[in-house]
Amino acid sequence: MGSSVRFERRYGFVSLFSGGLDSILATRLMSEAGYSILAVKMLLPFYPGRFSREVKRYFHEAAGCEVVELPVGEDYLELVRSPSFGYGKNANPCLDCRLYLYRKGWEVAKLVGARGIITGEVVGQRPFSQRRDALIFLDKRSGIQGRILRPLTAKNLPETELEKSGFVKRETLLDIRGRGRARQFELAKKFGIKEFISPAGGCLLTDPGFARRVFALIESGNLHFPATDIVKFGRMFKINNVILSVARDKTESDELDSIYSLENVENIGHIECLRCAGPSAVFLAPSEVSEEMLELLSSMVVRFSPKLGGRGEVLLSIGGRDKIISAVAADDATIERYRV
Ligand code: SF4
Repeated sequence: MGSSVRFERRYGFVSLFSGGLDSILATRLMSEAGYSILAVKMLLPFYPGRFSREVKRYFHEAAGCEVVELPVGEDYLELVRSPSFGYGKNANPCLDCRLYLYRKGWEVAKLVGARGIITGEVVGQRPFSQRRDALIFLDKRSGIQGRILRPLTAKNLPETELEKSGFVKRETLLDIRGRGRARQFELAKKFGIKEFISPAGGCLLTDPGFARRVFALIESGNLHFPATDIVKFGRMFKINNVILSVARDKTESDELDSIYSLENVENIGHIECLRCAGPSAVFLAPSEVSEEMLELLSSMVVRFSPKLGGRGEVLLSIGGRDKIISAVAADDATIERYRV
């Protein structure tokens, strides 16, 4: 991140900014206390994505500071594949994810001369990653103990270096705890914050159905960056180490077509029905795919094109090569056997 991103200004804090109410309030609280803050939204592959220009303008006003977005790299996928501290209820590696965000936030903090990072975490708000002992544990494991400030809940936690050094006065900080939201709503009212993006509908890794898809990618050796988008669309199948995603409607066909056209690489293939409307499909394979497998994939795609009447031709493309395959629609048992 360091060499490719340039920041012109210096800041007192970097805020790890999700766009949820707590991150807005934590940032605004410190901004009101006179600190210059750079809010950083990390673009996690399984969390709601980029802010529109309008939303950014809103956040600028609500949080009282500049908001920038930064992509994350392959190292994030590595922790999803194999988290040091395990998964939560589904495919959410929350402790590893928090540590990752702290460390990335601290990299930015060093670039802009900031003394610490701010988060909107609140003791007791989430059962797994925001218990008091979990937050203290995370601080110790982060490598930047004492530099992580949680303004909404800081008085429930040991004093940080930032407070001990006098850079932050403890009386500026709050003691919110638990799952209730009343104090946050009160604070939002005080700051005149009227609307905010709800954290609901947040991280896809916490959704059981989506988690099954992610685990299928991991098990088949297909969790990589284009796959992080493909996994959000279509009916998904896993056949040994091949993942097939067949669009459910025109919108999904367009999405899969556009991901494929952007990511025309060796380990992604594309299938479309010829001479009649049918769904687009993409498949992912970590190594070369046999002819038998290509025929099976084609037959599964034909199965979802009722107008082909049980037999049809598809155009299959992989690694810059195209071929036409004539296939008989796969039967229901085959479809169900491989469905994720
Ligand atoms: S819910 Fe998702 S984004 Fe949030 S800490 Fe857990 S893995 Fe990370």
